[in-house]
Amino acid sequence: MEVEIHEIKAKAKAKRKRSQSGRLMAKPSAFRSVEAPEVGDIEDFSSDNVLLMRSSLLRWYDDHQRVLPWRARSRGNGEEEEEDHAYAVWVSEVMLQQTRVQTVIEYYNRWMARWPTLRQLAGATQEEVNEMWAGLGYYRRARFLLEGAKLIVQEGEFPRTASALRGVRGIGEYTAGAIASIAFNEAVPVVDGNVVRVISRLMAISANPREAATVKTFWRLAGQLVDPDRPGDFNQAIMELGATLCSKTNPACDVCPVSNQCRALLLSRSNQSIKVIDYPLKVAKAKQRHDFAAVCVVEIAEGLDQKLLKESNSRQTYLLVKRPNEGLLAGMWEFPSVLIDEKETDQSARRKMIDKYLKKIFHLDAKSCNVNLREDVGEYVHVFSHIRLHMYVELINLTLKGGSNLLADGEGSSTITWKSVDDHSIKSIGLTSGVRKVHNMICDFKKKQLIRRPRTAPRTKNRRPAS
Ligand code: SF4
Repeated sequence: MEVEIHEIKAKAKAKRKRSQSGRLMAKPSAFRSVEAPEVGDIEDFSSDNVLLMRSSLLRWYDDHQRVLPWRARSRGNGEEEEEDHAYAVWVSEVMLQQTRVQTVIEYYNRWMARWPTLRQLAGATQEEVNEMWAGLGYYRRARFLLEGAKLIVQEGEFPRTASALRGVRGIGEYTAGAIASIAFNEAVPVVDGNVVRVISRLMAISANPREAATVKTFWRLAGQLVDPDRPGDFNQAIMELGATLCSKTNPACDVCPVSNQCRALLLSRSNQSIKVIDYPLKVAKAKQRHDFAAVCVVEIAEGLDQKLLKESNSRQTYLLVKRPNEGLLAGMWEFPSVLIDEKETDQSARRKMIDKYLKKIFHLDAKSCNVNLREDVGEYVHVFSHIRLHMYVELINLTLKGGSNLLADGEGSSTITWKSVDDHSIKSIGLTSGVRKVHNMICDFKKKQLIRRPRTAPRTKNRRPAS
């Protein structure tokens, strides 16, 4: 091992030298744009190291793997059992993308209780799947899962190799590798954020991990490591190491099963200015976009008198509109809203936009309804991966002059699908976390209103909701 340390030191020295000419950097700097090494410079694992790492990691995984519901699924050799296992791996891997294990467990268990097999999932509707997925975010994943299940059932056979799995919409290189290796024992690698972190440290790779050429290199290196006899276990072991011991900010190198093969650790021990957490290179995230929306929670009191309206929520309905089937939160239900410019966030500008929208879509204006209450409820910023959506939420409680039939005329709109749901149902249907938050804001607001004005006489003045 002493010899190896000297070799690494010598290489690091050579790299530092070369970095002056702008080609290689021995140590990555956080949030600094560095000239990444040419990917060809990242060498392969030595065959001795590969064998050692495989046996050490698999032994550690056998002893320390977390008990997770998708690992408990039958691993029998029958075709049906393998396909059930593949389905379980698929569902869990898709849910785990961008979501923490602890959050996924509950969703996974509910999903499997509802659709225990791929065939049962293929019989579900998009609406049912969206409801089950609500709160997990990245709703495109749920859509692709359903589409994929339908396609596989239609074709009659679960694809058993990574390359065949890639033919299913929504199954990318990572998911294909996970299903093929874990369920069908194909010796193919997986590369996710955890694997990138572990390999970056094992090889002290300081190249930008987001660059396409570097990503390709991680796949190459992961492919060298994967154990041909136990590919699924090995892939889970390396991901497990990244998720537990080899964490982003506090790696437990003292108890790591591959610490003897870890170059970042060796470098850090020989040079105080280098830390293992310097790997992988931290790349500044793309700046988030700020969007603004006027959100209008339209609550329809169906002819109730004002006193009753204030005392009970049970006979009121909310209007929900369905988002387009493509794009952000595709096909999900939300309260009516209008995207606005940052300069239009003051109350009067927002109300103008909302009034125009309600008239166009629902035929709601001063002729068709009486407004019992219209109040700003507050602002809420919902954070997506690349967008910060500032939502200005208002509540409009109204009574329809012509009864609910008047509203039904709006259903003719060819561009928007909408429905009305009562207060009880809205609590049980699957809503995105952003919509759920808005609904909670409304509930809190109404509670405060009741405390402040418990049984006051209703205002009878007919205020204009919409022009
Ligand atoms: S020794 Fe430390 S840095 Fe290296 S792989 Fe293990 S936990 Fe990660």
